[in-house]
Amino acid sequence: MQDLIRQLLTELGENPDREGLARTPLRVEKALRFLTSGYHADLHEVLNNALFTVDYSEMVIVKDIDFYSLCEHHLLPFFGKCHVAYIPNSRVIGLSKIPRIVDVFARRLQIQERMTNEIAQTILQAIDPRGVAVVCEGTHLCMSMRGVEKQNSFAVTSAMLGIFRDNARTRMEFLELIKLRTGVISPSSETASLACVND
Ligand SMILES: [Zn+2]
Repeated sequence: MQDLIRQLLTELGENPDREGLARTPLRVEKALRFLTSGYHADLHEVLNNALFTVDYSEMVIVKDIDFYSLCEHHLLPFFGKCHVAYIPNSRVIGLSKIPRIVDVFARRLQIQERMTNEIAQTILQAIDPRGVAVVCEGTHLCMSMRGVEKQNSFAVTSAMLGIFRDNARTRMEFLELIKLRTGVISPSSETASLACVND
């Protein structure tokens, strides 16, 4: 990988041998391996010993989970907050594991829509709850660094499964509790993170 980074620097018109860049290929490789480490994460290991049977049927919410990911179209970062909720059906996940599940899917080349769905599906399969809701709010550098009009844009994506999809009151209760920056989840905002494909 370091040879490729050296070559990339040359293609960009740089001198990869100058002092400031001498160790850059090594650093870039280390950074990229960390930022894509989700490919090698073992979900069973993450969830191991963290699934419990309980007599609890109220909504469980973990909000404001920071995520950092890389847009698969430009290899540029997108990052923001992820909010996760579920209503148990006799089984729960240890709360500290929810951010780890987010990391497993964020540390890959991603689109925000797929990441949101993968987080929701993982929880669904792990504990078979009555419903799962995941909302992610992300700033995409591939949009905000290129083009003046898009500097403050961010994308909101959601996955609503089970009772969160079927019952508007449950869904509203969740959305009220997480208080989105935008206040709404609209179909147009859900397509925002795919907009970068076109340029
Ligand atoms: Zn992009």
